Amino acid sequence: MSAIEHIGKFTIDDFGRLVIPGKLRTLLNWELGSKIDMYYADGNTAILQLAKEESELTLCAVCEEADGTIMVKGVFICNDCVNNVAKFKTL
Ligand SMILES: [Zn+2]
Repeated sequence: MSAIEHIGKFTIDDFGRLVIPGKLRTLLNWELGSKIDMYYADGNTAILQLAKEESELTLCAVCEEADGTIMVKGVFICNDCVNNVAKFKTL
């Protein structure tokens, strides 16, 4: 991760909403209507990330194959790559 830039201080409104400022949207190339994934990181930190398309989510993280993927610790990987890792591990 590169340097962290403070964008500003913003207030969560009475309805629990938080506006993502234009400067940050521009830096991140997020467009209005973009879907954002939110992650809880620790006691005081959250991570916002542009959501991937559903089709991207199930591609193998190693070879980007779409068929036969399984999720391992939150990452999709295909059976061929699982087998290749298993072979590598025994060398
Ligand atoms: Zn693969």
